[in-house]
Amino acid sequence: MFNSLQGRSAVVTGGSKGIGKGIAATFAAAGVDVVITGRNQADVDAAVAELSGKSGTVTGVAADVTSPEDCRRVVATAVERHGALDIVCANAGIFPSGRIEDLTPEDIEEVIGVNFKGTVYIVQAALSALTDSGHGRIVVTSSITGPFTGYPGWSHYGASKAAQLGFIRTAAMELAPKNITINAVLPGNIITEGLVDMGQEYMDQMTAAVPAGRLGTVADIGNAALFFATDEAGYITGQSLVVDGGQILPESQAAIAEQ
Ligand code: NAP
Repeated sequence: MFNSLQGRSAVVTGGSKGIGKGIAATFAAAGVDVVITGRNQADVDAAVAELSGKSGTVTGVAADVTSPEDCRRVVATAVERHGALDIVCANAGIFPSGRIEDLTPEDIEEVIGVNFKGTVYIVQAALSALTDSGHGRIVVTSSITGPFTGYPGWSHYGASKAAQLGFIRTAAMELAPKNITINAVLPGNIITEGLVDMGQEYMDQMTAAVPAGRLGTVADIGNAALFFATDEAGYITGQSLVVDGGQILPESQAAIAEQ
């Protein structure tokens, strides 16, 4: 049985849509008070309205994770509203497609800026508050793409997701004496606004590649993130958990057909 997380305080970046909104919903259902972020104020407001009425409160603040100043403001907001900050979910991310020959320096900077630098900035901003918490938890949303798999058009994206894992291994060592853990969830293909934008053909192709026979839900990722946030997961740090319905396992398409 897990200890209750009722009354804990969390920040979820990119919580206005998709996986982040799912993580916020799971945490709030467990009694965690959550501040969600996103750049678009209207989307933040809509998500806050949608997630109201749960055991924990959900409030929002518009912020861009590529700005260290914005990240500090988000953390200050959570501490002001909840009296502390115990959990940070560094989830905000983008996945624009671009073949290597077409990638501009700006394309590369944008993806690395949001996905990798944005992760580092929110962790930096939260360090003091998470230390004060005495049981700080950081959960990073990485991906199977980069750490385990590749997909044409996502070389820069995959690199940014692998970079997050390189970051958490040393971060875990630096943060352990402060009783802060940092771990990563590596989603497969999860039904989100961002994934739907990829088109039905892409989603059908991905579904066919998953041994479980379905795409993932945001709750699948929320549950994994919640586990890393528990007291019981306090001895786990610097690790990554793949949540993909078995997508990275088949050696070939034939292996899936034969299951
Ligand atoms: P999504 O539906 O497009 O949602 C992305 C969220 O991040 C939105 O709330 C978005 O809000 C926010 N965001 C984007 N850029 C931001 C910035 N610079 N500052 C602050 N917030 C920002 O995407 P998703 O599918 O949920 O993906 C979320 C995370 O999961 C990403 O890190 C992604 O790499 C990872 N992931 C997703 C999948 C999948 O299948 N969906 C698979 C593997 C990994 P604004 O646009 O308003 O800022």
